[in-house]
Amino acid sequence: KVKTQGKNNFGYYSERLLDELKDRVEMEKLLRQSLHSDNLVLHYQPKVELKTGRITGAEVLVRLQDKRGNLIFPDRFISIAEETSLIIKLGQQVLRKACTYAAECMQLQRPLKIAVNIDAQHFTQADFPNFVAGILKETGLPPAYLELEVTETALMNDVNAARCAIEKLSEIGVSIALDDFGTGYSSLSYLRTFDLDVLKIDRSFLKDATDNAQARHIIKAIVSLAEMLGLALVCEGIETERQLGLILDLGCCEGQGYLFSQPASKSNFDMLFCDGFAHLCQSCEAS
Ligand code: C2E
Ligand code: MG
Ligand code: MG
Ligand code: MG
Repeated sequence: KVKTQGKNNFGYYSERLLDELKDRVEMEKLLRQSLHSDNLVLHYQPKVELKTGRITGAEVLVRLQDKRGNLIFPDRFISIAEETSLIIKLGQQVLRKACTYAAECMQLQRPLKIAVNIDAQHFTQADFPNFVAGILKETGLPPAYLELEVTETALMNDVNAARCAIEKLSEIGVSIALDDFGTGYSSLSYLRTFDLDVLKIDRSFLKDATDNAQARHIIKAIVSLAEMLGLALVCEGIETERQLGLILDLGCCEGQGYLFSQPASKSNFDMLFCDGFAHLCQSCEAS
């Protein structure tokens, strides 16, 4: 079969490879420039108390901006940042910007707890907890207003380093959330090994939950697990009112998703923050 595809196919594939390579080189260049000029764009997605629609916090999501002003999403540059170790600098800039914003909110008498995604590579740096403490001091943000989101993969990368870092961060007063829960490896042992505060149920469970009983049972089990272990629980990826109703029935109290808002620019988030989502949550209870 390979033979009959002939030369043209080879040409096609090599052209595609070349395109991918060009794209990668461009991306790395843009990433370096953005870091150099401290030009990362941060968007904020509200976390919502599902019964009332009150905003309980925000997850910080990073974007790049190209010359034409288009936003580039993390799926196109996070892996490049990891491979080149630029992820360290990226994480530092995101953390500083996000804490600065949360501290501003504090000064405007509208305290906002922010959740920042942290890459595995930060845990291999022994001074990471000190760096976080330094940023909090520099920006004046109280530690209780910062949460760090880590994935199971980040934890299993180097279990001892991660445990040590999480212990120190907890001492500082920063909370730790386990992101995309249920999609990594052996999640359950981590619940004992690490001093965690929050579980975030991966959005794939909710995506299937409306027509799949298994997915609902798994969510229900995660809800009880979190309850028994004294962990807060956040459901990711709430897109429809039907899903909101379902997740409330399953006992989950907090969530985020496109139903409430996509990740928003700072000024758009400021507006959302004032209004809240009571309208959505009440209409859901009534139906
Ligand atoms: P994540 O931490 O699990 O973030 C959630 C992703 O789901 C975000 O994508 C968010 O925009 C998207 N999302 C939120 N609500 C919904 C929904 O209702 N439906 C659907 N389909 N998607 C929803 P985004 O912003 O493209 O980020 C993707 C991933 O990139 C993040 O996954 C996180 O792992 C990584 N990332 C983003 N910002 C940073 C950062 O500052 N540092 C690091 N290390 N990683 C980051
Ligand atoms: Mg996250
Ligand atoms: Mg803790
Ligand atoms: Mg997630």
